[in-house]
Amino acid sequence: KGEAADAAGFTVVMKFGGSSVSSAARMREMADLILSFPEERPVVVLSAMGKTTNNLLLAGEKAVSCGAPKASEINELAVIKELHLRTIDELGLDSSIVSGFLDELEQLLKGVAMMKELTLRTRDYLVSFGECMSTRIFAAYLNKLGKKARQYDAFDLGFITTDDFTNADILEATYPAVAKRLHGDWIDDPAIPVVTGFLGKGWKSCAVTTLGRGGSDLTATTIGKALGLREIQVWKDVDGVLTCDPNIYANAVPVPYLTFDEAAELAYFGAQVLHPQSMRPAREGGIPVRVKNSYNRHAPGTVITKTRDMRKVCYVTVSVYSDSSM
Ligand code: ASP
Ligand code: MG
Repeated sequence: KGEAADAAGFTVVMKFGGSSVSSAARMREMADLILSFPEERPVVVLSAMGKTTNNLLLAGEKAVSCGAPKASEINELAVIKELHLRTIDELGLDSSIVSGFLDELEQLLKGVAMMKELTLRTRDYLVSFGECMSTRIFAAYLNKLGKKARQYDAFDLGFITTDDFTNADILEATYPAVAKRLHGDWIDDPAIPVVTGFLGKGWKSCAVTTLGRGGSDLTATTIGKALGLREIQVWKDVDGVLTCDPNIYANAVPVPYLTFDEAAELAYFGAQVLHPQSMRPAREGGIPVRVKNSYNRHAPGTVITKTRDMRKVCYVTVSVYSDSSM
């Protein structure tokens, strides 16, 4: 698997969560961050901008009971439109990048309002607009900077999942499909892949599925395993994994090493570190996951591997804090 990755030149996955791409300013910083590691050939994975996922879910809930004529007036719809159009404007991009999505989103909310129901399947489709838009904006911006990028919707890239809407599992067929497509496209026309986190395609329904809240981490580790990369980087806006919530205790310090089991356990107990399922592909592929701070880009962050040196015992409290916006 390593040889194939070398042929296409990919070295790492760089995953950026919602708070890292929440505005034009943050997107500029992330583009600068990527370009400041010229030795890397990254595959970029993005979440939806800021609180967009929450806003899409809220808009959907409101649409169920508001009645079709009022669907266009849902406040969260206005917030989502304003955020994406303003970001595009501030980055000097063309609004046509997202206008089709914004129109369709409004239509979809009207449909939900008319039907007076929101199935799990429709909810996943609705929420997918967040990642579909953030990745298109960011890829267009990289291209504008002269750094060739190519946007991918995970559901077209080969992410095949169960049909468990809102909490789908990734199926094995995903790994070879994703590797084949990313390698093939790179060989035809090299460009940084910018992939939607969180999304997949149900194997029977062929409909858009989601991997559960915070699922972009799982997207990142799945790509890491598929390509046999050196490292999976999860970029946050704090120093890696901290010993406790810095809002509670100011002297929280970064934990340098964790094992996959420890990280999974922390996630299971509700620490906002990483998606609970996301350690599995990394463990299976033997690929280290590094949690890094975008405000302190050269700090080593927290490295998560199979084993760590237990002589340097470090006690990690369960209340680990990591990211302000999911
Ligand atoms: N945007 C999705 C969420 O907020 C996925 C993610 O951020 O990883 O849950
Ligand atoms: Mg998010």
